[in-house]
Amino acid sequence: MSASSSSFNMFNLESLVRPNIRAMKPYSSARDEFQGEAHVMLDANENSLGSAGPERFNRYPDPLQRAVKAGLAPLKGVSPEQIFLGNGSDEAIDLLVRLTCTPGQDSILILPPTYGMYEVAANLNDVGIERLPLSADFQLSAETVAGILASEAKLVFLCSPNNPTGNLLHSEGIEQILRGFRGLVVVDEAYVDFAEAPSWTTRLHEFPNLVVLQTFSKAWGLAGLRLGMAFASPELIKYLNKIKPPYNVSEATQQHALQALRDAPHFEQMRRELLLGRDWLQERLPALKIVEEVFPSDANFLLVRFRPDATAVYDFLLGRGIVVRNRTSQPGCTGTLRLTVGTPQENQLLLSALQEYV
Ligand SMILES: *Cc1c(COP(=O)(O)O)cnc(C)c1O
Repeated sequence: MSASSSSFNMFNLESLVRPNIRAMKPYSSARDEFQGEAHVMLDANENSLGSAGPERFNRYPDPLQRAVKAGLAPLKGVSPEQIFLGNGSDEAIDLLVRLTCTPGQDSILILPPTYGMYEVAANLNDVGIERLPLSADFQLSAETVAGILASEAKLVFLCSPNNPTGNLLHSEGIEQILRGFRGLVVVDEAYVDFAEAPSWTTRLHEFPNLVVLQTFSKAWGLAGLRLGMAFASPELIKYLNKIKPPYNVSEATQQHALQALRDAPHFEQMRRELLLGRDWLQERLPALKIVEEVFPSDANFLLVRFRPDATAVYDFLLGRGIVVRNRTSQPGCTGTLRLTVGTPQENQLLLSALQEYV
């Protein structure tokens, strides 16, 4: 028996899913019950005449977004049954909490400083939050890994590359957590397209407790579309589909996503340009007197520690019409602002403004 299979004796998806969700019958939509081509579609109370507005959207969309998943699967090296699509990855975060955590009883585990939506999803669902800190360099310490392995939380969110710090979490630590944690391990890879490391989707076959989140909101440039992805075992994906709102991804979104997938060269060109912009800022920011530290980044933003007063810098930039994210009140992030890499012109404006700060 290999080390990886022996360590999963304790992982059991069925026992992790809330009993009411295991037992419930999902909503069966008209489009679920009839798949295929019919001439006369009078099953769903749609408007057969057409649509107001410039385009036709009079039919309900495919609840399982089969065409988008068929386009996405080869790109991601997974099968369509391993893909969940949601109204942003924020929807997947919420559904994962609801799938596993009984309100008023169970908890999630997060590693501050990290993405704020995990807490919001827990609070919205009346689910507890356990916190174990990242180290001063925003990594998984041995103590924190040990704390995760000892935790009874139903799921742990590992954001890698992490928001707002920008760094990848060490793969050794993530692997230890995957082998030893009793609950689901959610690796949020919203920024993976800007990182050198391979996605954890390449390890899905090894870890039945692994869920990988990605999004069209960052490198694909489609934040306004609201389309997020979760990759996991077919069994887990089935549960997410069971509890999602039936038509959670609109027809407009599905059509647009298909077009975006065919425009992969543009994605690649933007990705490269953003990486060049990151390098450009990374080279120039440390020369500024007000910059104490530019943290390494595997994402499309830089966390920067300013002296003596980050909030004064933030306000100064606002006065110049430049809005960045003040992260100074986040654990371990005292004195920091998070700067998103923009167009070359925006990066130049940001740098010039910071050079003129007095
Ligand atoms: C931006 C971001 C997301 C993306 O959320 P969407 O709902 O897909 O727009 C997810 N996780 C993290 C850590 C992010 O920074």
